[in-house]
Amino acid sequence: MEVNKIAEVRSKYKEPVGPDEMRKTKSVIEVEAEYVDGLDKIEGYEYLQILFYFHKSDGYDLISKRRKGPERGLFTSRSPRRPSPIGITTVELLKREGNKLHVYGLDAIDGTPVIDIKPYASFMDQPTLSLQKKTPRYQINKLIKYQNLNDLLLKAGELHGHYCPYLALGVMAAADALKRLGADNDGMEDLLAVVETNSCFSDGIQYTAGTTFGNNSLIYRDFGKTAVTFVKRGDSTDNLRYYLKDSNFIEREYPKAAELFKKVIADRNGSQAEEKKMKEVWQEIAFEIIEADIDKFFKIEENLKIELPDYAPIFADAECSKCGEKLMAAKAVQKDDKVLCRECAESSYYQLDGSGIVEQI
Ligand SMILES: [Zn+2]
Ligand SMILES: [Zn+2]
Repeated sequence: MEVNKIAEVRSKYKEPVGPDEMRKTKSVIEVEAEYVDGLDKIEGYEYLQILFYFHKSDGYDLISKRRKGPERGLFTSRSPRRPSPIGITTVELLKREGNKLHVYGLDAIDGTPVIDIKPYASFMDQPTLSLQKKTPRYQINKLIKYQNLNDLLLKAGELHGHYCPYLALGVMAAADALKRLGADNDGMEDLLAVVETNSCFSDGIQYTAGTTFGNNSLIYRDFGKTAVTFVKRGDSTDNLRYYLKDSNFIEREYPKAAELFKKVIADRNGSQAEEKKMKEVWQEIAFEIIEADIDKFFKIEENLKIELPDYAPIFADAECSKCGEKLMAAKAVQKDDKVLCRECAESSYYQLDGSGIVEQI
């Protein structure tokens, strides 16, 4: 076997710090003169995979406790301490200057020998894409199966826009319920979530359980409680309800965060810096509590009696005689022998918004 050093990393980090911290920095890969021709047209790639040698790594443990979670095998981790101490990181290529590649996201310290550079191509490097087309929730289902709540929360943030404690609690409840109910949700209304609040909590549920507003498997009961019941339609007694019994944990365990929340959100009176700080603190709490024991937060009940709505009906179409827009016939109103939409008829309607379900008169 022969492995060659083809480049060296220039980074402000002389010693390793956490990988998350290091991935937030720019660094330079200096390619050795004899290999520079191999960089031809590399500017056309946004992302590169960098293989490097952990030159300061020493020894390894085949089983050990990782940063988070229980003990596990070495080959399920990205630890630098391994029999072949090779790291691989996908980085963003910012620019090339001669033999220098300016990159973002490389978690390798100054002086690290680079042994290979490859272009990253999503169609080659995401082996799950074809599986995803067959089963859109393939990746989420896997994360639920292995209860990888950290990654579920990471992905739920894509829907929610920020990380916060209640998003984490929603993810936690949904991941637990889906595992226990053995539910493999395909968004066809066979698994329903009956949520009792329209807070961040419900986004954690929509994302993780796939019970959404749009696929009619999110039932909203305007009770204002941080609670959710997951029900399988085939057997409505096969259900689980999660009620947040400890709603004061933020005030009690994270008083600083509670103070910031009051100022920035409740009183809408925070500076930009305070808003930024609050998001950071929220994120920290979210990723901390997601690792906690579910019983710390939730009272969990099972086999409750619960009334379910039917599958969503398919309504016939109607056309508003004033604005000409099409609408579901069941939602139209009759006025002076005319079919009108609620807007044109100026009739009352229900609106779901931050206040819950409110009749607009
Ligand atoms: Zn939130
Ligand atoms: Zn109209």
